[in-house]
Amino acid sequence: MRRILVAGNWKLNGSLQSVRQLVADIKAGLGDLKADVAVCPPYVYIPEVAQLLKGSSLGYGAQDVSDQTAGAFTGEVSAPMLNDFGCKYAIVGHSERRSLYGEGDDFTARKFAATRKAGLIPILCVGELLEEREQGITEQVVSRQLDAVIQLEGVAALADAVIAYEPVWAIGTGKTASPQQAQDVHAFIRGKIAALDAAVAEKVQILYGGSVKGSNAAELFAMADIDGGLIGGASLAAEEFLTICRAG
Ligand code: PEP
Repeated sequence: MRRILVAGNWKLNGSLQSVRQLVADIKAGLGDLKADVAVCPPYVYIPEVAQLLKGSSLGYGAQDVSDQTAGAFTGEVSAPMLNDFGCKYAIVGHSERRSLYGEGDDFTARKFAATRKAGLIPILCVGELLEEREQGITEQVVSRQLDAVIQLEGVAALADAVIAYEPVWAIGTGKTASPQQAQDVHAFIRGKIAALDAAVAEKVQILYGGSVKGSNAAELFAMADIDGGLIGGASLAAEEFLTICRAG
């Protein structure tokens, strides 16, 4: 039985003060949740969040990571550095990285590899644009994004990873994929992995992301192949985020 994971992606939001408040509010409301919960603050707040979460079951990670370990790569943060601060996860290949910063499948695969090498769990984002869905090529797109990682790292690498299916048209738009639309793609992803390694397919957590809210989380998480959510906007409000976590 796969566990439910709910991960909050805070993106480029917050201040030291608001981060402290948000962490305190989430911690206070965690109770005895069944789901695993994590937050991904902006890099600079990770040391603060690490301090605030000492001894807590709430995990944390980064929103991105370098494909490099060290050297002349101005502005980059490596996976071993994230490890130094106790990060458990790093998101790789978020659609905003892909579309706004031109990060392609191979580059994302190298970030995935660097994350695993440092002992962190990559949260690999995949998902199609609206026009790709309209052209009926959702599965081809998701397949191509997954293949880059499978070719570089092998399918077994996915056993210790998290995949987040995030249809780009649903991110930050308020348009959520219906539970069935999401389930169909999740089942496709799991089936594709199962064709290579059934045990890996059974183990890998596949999260859904795209305008998940307290009001729609339960029906999404109830689908057979949806193992939780990657949450953007709704992870910035503690009560809303906790409602999503309780749906798991
Ligand atoms: C995201 O950016 O990963 C995301 C799912 O955002 P939102 O929940 O705001 O759609």
